[in-house]
Amino acid sequence: MTILHEEYYMKRSLVILLSFICGAVLDMTSAVEESVWLEAEGFAQLGGWEIDQQSMGQMGSAYIMAHGMGIPVHDAQTVCNIPKSGEWTVWVRTRDWTAPWKRGTPAGRFNVIINGKTLPEVLGTNGNTWNWQKAGVITLEKGDISVALHDLTGFNGRCDAIYLTTDPAFKPESDTTKLAEFRKQALGLKRVDDPVVYDLAIAGGGMAGTCAAVAAIRTGSKVVLIQDRGVLGGCNSSEVRVGLGGFAQTEPFPNVGKVVTAIGPIMGGGGTYSGEWYEDSRKANVFQRSPKNQYKLALNERVFEVEKDPDDSKKITAFIARNARTGVETRYRARLFADCTGDAVIARMMGAEVMYGREPRAKFNESLAPEKADKQVMGMSVLWYAKKATQATSFPDIDWGLQFTEETVYYIRNGDWEWETGQYRDQAEEAEYIRDYGMMAIYANWSFLKNHSKRKNEWALDKLDWVSPIGGKRESYRVVGDLILTQNDIEKGVPYPDGTVAITWDLDHHFPDPENLKKFKEPFRSCAYHRGIAKPYPVPYRCLYARDVKNLFLGGRDISVSHSAFSAVRVMRTLGSLGEVVGMAATVCVKENVYPRDVYATHFDKLKALMEKGVDVKPYHAYDSGVRESYHFKDLGFLSIKDEERKKKISSEAEKQYQERIKELNVQHIDMEKKQ
Ligand SMILES: Cc1cc2nc3c(=O)[nH]c(=O)nc-3n(C[C@H](O)[C@H](O)[C@H](O)COP(=O)(O)OP(=O)(O)OC[C@H]3O[C@@H](n4cnc5c(N)ncnc54)[C@H](O)[C@@H]3O)c2cc1C
Repeated sequence: MTILHEEYYMKRSLVILLSFICGAVLDMTSAVEESVWLEAEGFAQLGGWEIDQQSMGQMGSAYIMAHGMGIPVHDAQTVCNIPKSGEWTVWVRTRDWTAPWKRGTPAGRFNVIINGKTLPEVLGTNGNTWNWQKAGVITLEKGDISVALHDLTGFNGRCDAIYLTTDPAFKPESDTTKLAEFRKQALGLKRVDDPVVYDLAIAGGGMAGTCAAVAAIRTGSKVVLIQDRGVLGGCNSSEVRVGLGGFAQTEPFPNVGKVVTAIGPIMGGGGTYSGEWYEDSRKANVFQRSPKNQYKLALNERVFEVEKDPDDSKKITAFIARNARTGVETRYRARLFADCTGDAVIARMMGAEVMYGREPRAKFNESLAPEKADKQVMGMSVLWYAKKATQATSFPDIDWGLQFTEETVYYIRNGDWEWETGQYRDQAEEAEYIRDYGMMAIYANWSFLKNHSKRKNEWALDKLDWVSPIGGKRESYRVVGDLILTQNDIEKGVPYPDGTVAITWDLDHHFPDPENLKKFKEPFRSCAYHRGIAKPYPVPYRCLYARDVKNLFLGGRDISVSHSAFSAVRVMRTLGSLGEVVGMAATVCVKENVYPRDVYATHFDKLKALMEKGVDVKPYHAYDSGVRESYHFKDLGFLSIKDEERKKKISSEAEKQYQERIKELNVQHIDMEKKQ
């Protein structure tokens, strides 16, 4: 039976009212009750469900999502222990992500299956907001039980947590702030301290954060890089699939950008390609070649809190990060910090001044700025493509989301940079809605194309092959530094004494495409205006740290630039190279015991020297030239002929073996040659 949104929600209100009344009665008689909390993202096997952490700050947790592109995904499964036999009520924290468009059947429906028994309520049908939906009541014996999330649609059903309780009257907390405490208690989570005090802690492992980390490590700093996904690269990862743009290693510092070159995918381009083109492992492998005691790569951890110095509220002392799978919270202490989150997550938590949207023309006298300020930004993209199958393929005829018609349908086979949305929204705070709108528009357009369009026969062999589950963000909050770079600086080539890496991209402004805006209330396609810049323009160092936070560097999309200047600086070879500058500047701060601002004021010569040299990313399996002698025995190691060096590395037993073996080899050492 198909239940449409409005009809569905009328029925649900009745059910909720009844269960509330029953609950109130039963509460008076309740004995000692037991409960079990299960984090969906902590399930032992996720099956085809994907972790989403992009809206952790807003909805209170990571969650999992059945991203099957219309084909139900494999169950997520786990085992948990039930402390007492009896009747258990099962609650699931979920939402109907298609409710905002008030049409058709909720898209992301799923069931909970316990010990092989499907609980009666179809979940993901509880309205727009994240909340608890009752899955059903089940009799359970004390001991281990199996729990599965069973996707019914392949259309992004989502589950944050499952709460089992013996108290039929109890409904878990709805309010996000109270829920955070409730969750912590239920899971018994404790905050742990990373024992190291790092020189530099970086939040965000996109190209900017990753390059900053490598540069800082290679110039001698101790670094922790905290990235909320399991892979590095941000938009350039196989998860989002944006190609690197612009040039690295340009004048005036042609040696900056070597890290970008070393970790950047070899292939790429303006389009969207299959996952392996983005070479995720290349970005992680570069760390393997750094001294282990000099870095920590904290993947799947999201910084959600900062600790301030009690004596100086403008200084950060620690990041608190939560693991997206285990929920464990870790305190990372450091002397310096870098906000490479793209959303200025750290700067905003510190109350630093930020910019969002388009500044008015008068503010920086920029010709490409609008007369009046507004909140319009370059939007988020959900990239996707179809592939040809050898036989005709079908796609569900969906009744939810936007209603497409012959007049509004797009006869296309992929969505690239132009599949862009959320231009009038807050990219950080409304990320889930924006991503969902972009994704819903893909499915609704594709469904109409495949099932109803006049030309559907031409699309018969086309199969939706890949839709990114993650929104690729272009523009969000920018942080005010000691200098805000403007369009005029770039166009007029205004020289600053602290110029660093050069911008090489066009001024490239995106707008909602007027054609799309005519058809739909909210845009999901964009167009761009390009204006070439006369020559590469070096970004001043003062754009790379926050004006209002003493020890906070800025890297990537949130650096201190106007909206119009951002349109040119925002590509990843430029932002990655600027990340390298941040890493080097952090090392200068460490060595000179100063803050980011002082590097400009009193130590810029040292940063300049590092930028001239660049960061060494040596090829593996190569020897530096220089006169030295060693023996290499696989079992004993690579050993210098110098007694004092060798004896530090090996035991006396190994030394004995070494002596015996080299005697047999009878090699002429350099000093012997000289004596002859
Ligand atoms: C569709 C699209 C097309 C584009 N086209 C191009 C192009 O052709 N060429 C080009 O060079 N650029 C292009 N861009 C721009 C470019 O991708 C971005 O400007 C670039 O990704 C910015 O890099 P970043 O490291 O600042 O941010 P991101 O790539 O967004 O990386 C930031 C990372 O930080 C993580 N993070 C966020 N908050 C936290 C937190 N609190 N704790 C831990 N981790 C966190 C995020 O998950 C993310 O992985 C495009 C962008 C989009 C969306």
